Amino acid sequence: MYQLPQDALEYVLACKEELMDLERTLCQIPAPSHKEHARAAFCKKWLEDAGAKGVYIDEVQNVIFPINAEGSNRLTLFAAHMDTVFPDTEPMPMTEKDGLLYCPGAGDDTGSVALVLMISKYLITRNIQPKDGFLMVCNTCEEMDQTGITHVVNAYEGRLKEVYMMDGLYNQVVNWPVAYQKYKVSIHAQGGHAYLSFGNPSAIQCAASMIQDIYALPLPEGCKSSYNVGLISGGSTINAIAQNVEMAVEMRSELESNLNSLRQSFRDIVKKHQDMEIYEIRVADDGSLPGKGDVDEARQEKINEKMRQIFGQYLEGKTIFRSGAGDLNIPASKGVPGVGFCAYKLGRIHSRDEYIDLESLENALRTSLTVVLSCVDD
Ligand SMILES: [Zn+2]
Repeated sequence: MYQLPQDALEYVLACKEELMDLERTLCQIPAPSHKEHARAAFCKKWLEDAGAKGVYIDEVQNVIFPINAEGSNRLTLFAAHMDTVFPDTEPMPMTEKDGLLYCPGAGDDTGSVALVLMISKYLITRNIQPKDGFLMVCNTCEEMDQTGITHVVNAYEGRLKEVYMMDGLYNQVVNWPVAYQKYKVSIHAQGGHAYLSFGNPSAIQCAASMIQDIYALPLPEGCKSSYNVGLISGGSTINAIAQNVEMAVEMRSELESNLNSLRQSFRDIVKKHQDMEIYEIRVADDGSLPGKGDVDEARQEKINEKMRQIFGQYLEGKTIFRSGAGDLNIPASKGVPGVGFCAYKLGRIHSRDEYIDLESLENALRTSLTVVLSCVDD
């Protein structure tokens, strides 16, 4: 059993309203990826007002609050991402109805940012000194390209023992990173009049052939993998042979080695069509995330088991353990064990109707504080 001390239970009750207000305040500070400055400045000041010493904002706007971290090579990192998928630089509409707070980004991941701050305040005011040191982090760019967490992991290279990414869906734990690769493909062909030049090369014909080949690929064995052609556009009009097509292709796998074999198969398909010497095909790397590195599986299993117990203790229903792509990939690719988790209720994430269940924040604080305190002497 992971028990919270009486003092922590009282803290959770005492700061329930403050936590909800903090959530409302944070929601009203716009933070599109790569434009988190205002939210970062707020978080740093909030921590300092709570008594934090040594908080800093790094080159990519991550807010980092090290606790007893100096000289330690066994740091535990707790992080929530400040950025939202919405490009708005003015405060977005925020409404409340039936206990739900509606605001884009409210759940993903603003609620977790509020929790990181409120948990930090507990650690500060109780002068808790974790044995091996903590990094309490509000990071940037989770929704875009993981540059925020990458910067943290690089800055603390070789010094991280475990990571806890506070992000995700209610009562779900991500304990295995999914690697992915995205490509933008552009195809150019001669084209011409649909009737008079019938038989000329068509970019749409080439795209159709490539797509057919992609979907004929067998998935690698040994783990879950996937591929998808998610976007396609091209052609100019009905009576013209298409000269141009653009398409977006993504591939995912729980194992980097399997993703690599999908990458190779895709390259083979591209080459096959290039070798016809009829089409001009260009492939641009549109981003990727690394898969799991050399993680200590015993340590990982210990974290999983702890999350199972703590979530089982506090949350409704059965905890879902799953794989997923996000900030966790970066430390995991460097062999650092960890999880992503969320203990409050939220919905319609990444949409303008996104909401968070305000009442559920209190229990999320209880749950998340239990996770954090379990690491103090571990
Ligand atoms: Zn998120």
